[in-house]
Amino acid sequence: MKRILLLGGTGDALRIARHLGAGHVYSLAGLGKVPDDLACAVRVGGFGGSEGLERYIEDEAITLVIDATHPYAAQISANAARASRAAHVPYWALRRPGWQPKAGDDWRMVADWDELTEALAPFRKPLFTLGREPLAHLDEIPPHQFWMVRCLDPYPDTARARILAARGPFALEGERALFALQAFDVVVSKNSGGSATEAKLDVARERGLPVVMLRRPELPAADREFEQSADLLDALQAAE
Ligand code: NAP
Repeated sequence: MKRILLLGGTGDALRIARHLGAGHVYSLAGLGKVPDDLACAVRVGGFGGSEGLERYIEDEAITLVIDATHPYAAQISANAARASRAAHVPYWALRRPGWQPKAGDDWRMVADWDELTEALAPFRKPLFTLGREPLAHLDEIPPHQFWMVRCLDPYPDTARARILAARGPFALEGERALFALQAFDVVVSKNSGGSATEAKLDVARERGLPVVMLRRPELPAADREFEQSADLLDALQAAE
C-alpha cells in the first residue's frame, strides 16, 4: 500500500491533504493553524534535519514524499529531496509559479535583507508582506521611516512600526482600503505566486507604487514537479 508523507504549510498543501485518506501523513512545521478535520494523520514540528527526515521516512514506511511547502521554505525542500533520495522513495514537488510583472509594474528585485534595506532607503512608509523577518530588524528602522509589517501572528507595535496580524487570502477591496488609509509609498514582498495574496500587487500598480521583491530561493529538482495541486492529485490517482 502507498503511504504518503505530505509536507505542507500552504493553502495548496491543505487542498491536497483533504484528498488523503487514513494511512497518509500531513506534516506541518507548527507556525500556523493545525487542521483538525482531516482524514489523514497530521503531525507537527521539525524532523531534525534531513537525517531525521530520512529516519522518519524509514520508520513510518513512507513510500512517497510530496513537497507542497512554500516556495521560500528552501530548507525543508532541500532536506526532503536529500532524505527521499537516501531512503530510496520518490520525491514529488508542487512548485507554484511566481508572479510575473505586468505593464505599469515597478519591481525592484533584491537577493537578501541587506539589498532590501538599500532598496528601501528612499522611501518613508513601506508595507512589509514577507512574514516575520522584519520583526528581527525593528531596532534598525531609519529615522525617516515608519514601517507597517503584516504577518500571521500578533506582535507588539513600537514607536516606529505597526504590526498587523492578518491571514490571507486578501481581497482587492480590502487591500485598496488599507493602502488608501495608510498611504504606503512602497510594498515589500516575496514572489509567492498564487491568487491568495496577489491583490496587493494590483493595488501597488493602481497607485503607481514600487514593489521591492525578494528573489525566490533555489529549490532542489524533484522526480516529478507540478504547478497546480489539481495536476498533482490527478497524478496521484493515476498512480494508485
Ligand atoms: P524552512 O526554513 O524551509 O524550514 C525550517 C525548518 O522547519 C525545517 O528545517 C524543518 O525542521 C521545519 N519544517 C518546515 N516545514 C516543515 C513541514 N512541513 N513539516 C515539518 N517540519 C517542517 O521553512 P520556513 O520558511 O521557516 O517555513 C516553515 C513552514 O511555513 C513551511 O512548512 C512552509 O511551507 C510554511 N510557510 C512558509 C512561508 C515562507 O515565506 N517561508 C510562507 C507560508 C508558509 P527540521 O529541519 O527540524 O526538520
